[in-house]
Amino acid sequence: MNDPLKKYNEKRNFSKTPEPKGEIIRSVNEPIFTIHKHAARNLHYDFRLETNGYLKSWVIPKGPSMDPKVKRLAIPTEDHPLSYANFEGVIPEGEYGAGAVIVWDQGIYKVLKDDPKPLETYLKNGHVTLGLHGKKLKGGFALIQTGNKPNQRWLFFKMKDDDAMSGSDILMDEPNSVISGKSIDEIIKRKGIK
Ligand code: MN
Repeated sequence: MNDPLKKYNEKRNFSKTPEPKGEIIRSVNEPIFTIHKHAARNLHYDFRLETNGYLKSWVIPKGPSMDPKVKRLAIPTEDHPLSYANFEGVIPEGEYGAGAVIVWDQGIYKVLKDDPKPLETYLKNGHVTLGLHGKKLKGGFALIQTGNKPNQRWLFFKMKDDDAMSGSDILMDEPNSVISGKSIDEIIKRKGIK
């Protein structure tokens, strides 16, 4: 069987990185989403959606926004294991994705459709609207593929609804982890005194 986590496992040396090994595990209840804030060579955000026992993942270089006017580029990256959802820590120098990682937001999500099909169906068609119930991101969001299919670029943006916050900058207003409350800098420092 095709292993969706093959790429994830191949890219990492688990004797060196504190990241979890990839294996397929399903959430007991509703599917979750996680957004990691990742201070790699370039600071970016990783948007991850649970489906079929793993996390579909996109890099959002500029991070999400609660302002419907702000449409952010989202680039698909390798599927991650569900156990990655709570990962925070520092990936060592020289390892893939070296740098500090915090869980910037997390919660459950729904596909916003009556009688929704599996997430994969919508992703194949290049268009899905999601209801996010995070600690920071709330309400409807769209994920739309742009340009030609091999291009694999998507746009991620807030839909106009009661949760939308025009003119807001949630990345500045709420920079820290929803799990530990820590900032990227604090994660690096904590690692330093270990
Ligand atoms: Mn990343």
